[in-house]
Amino acid sequence: MSQYDIVDPAFGEYVLFNSHLKQLATGFDWVEGPVWFGDANCLLFSDIPNNRIMRWSPDTGISTYREPSNFSNGHTRDRQGRLVSCEHGGRRVTRTEYDGTITVIADGFDGKPLNSPNDVVVKSDGSVWFTDPHYGIKTNYEGHKSEQELPCNLYRVDPETGDMRVMVDDANCPNGLAFSPDESRLYVADTGRMFSDDKKHMRVFDVADDGSLSGGDVFHVVSPGASDGFRLDTDGNVWTSAGDGVHCISPDGDLLGKVLVPELVSNVCFGGRAKQQLFITATTSVYVISLNRQGV
Ligand code: MG
Repeated sequence: MSQYDIVDPAFGEYVLFNSHLKQLATGFDWVEGPVWFGDANCLLFSDIPNNRIMRWSPDTGISTYREPSNFSNGHTRDRQGRLVSCEHGGRRVTRTEYDGTITVIADGFDGKPLNSPNDVVVKSDGSVWFTDPHYGIKTNYEGHKSEQELPCNLYRVDPETGDMRVMVDDANCPNGLAFSPDESRLYVADTGRMFSDDKKHMRVFDVADDGSLSGGDVFHVVSPGASDGFRLDTDGNVWTSAGDGVHCISPDGDLLGKVLVPELVSNVCFGGRAKQQLFITATTSVYVISLNRQGV
């Protein structure tokens, strides 16, 4: 059985016939938020229900990086290489400084607490963009069950000035997000409100030079499953979680092919020596596969 599903012949050049999907670690409950630290040769990811951030390195294997983690979910790095994290439990976005201390980037809007920040990216100007769906406060499984006081928005924060604004206010539950390589586009997954039959889809916005957004049409509908988290390669292809693995979507919104994964995938990130390895968080396990592509 092939580990790939090649839909468009172009996808045949994106994958390597002799690389294989490898399980790096297992035994978790719902892994998310992978982020690669090339300078430390390690991957960090969240094991959300177990309230911890794990660390995997080809040198030392698996270890616990932070516990408790305030039920952290998505992670990224800022322009200075520092870890930026979404916390369901803390209902905030934080930055981990080089000395290990934690700085709060955002924990409320309009005098009200955020819901449960889910995923985050940092633009080249240093601004921090994150989604704030309600998944982490609807139950006690991935955080603390609490009252929702704000709509499920997508925000942009300037960590220097604290200036914070709503960038997308018409999603049901925005989730994964990423810019195109030239930052002219912003992709946003909407996974719908919990316990609803909201439509799940990916949208694409045009990003103006001043950072303002326009458009927001449906870009692609992942099937089976839905897009939760995703990253882009240097050619602008979107590598997204799906119900049967990782789907590769062209900048035109067409499905090019799939990497099949035996567990439900939540998110991905590129890493490794040449950013050609795709790390995959999938329910109880973390996997990796080498590709003939490079992450942005
Ligand atoms: Mg997510």
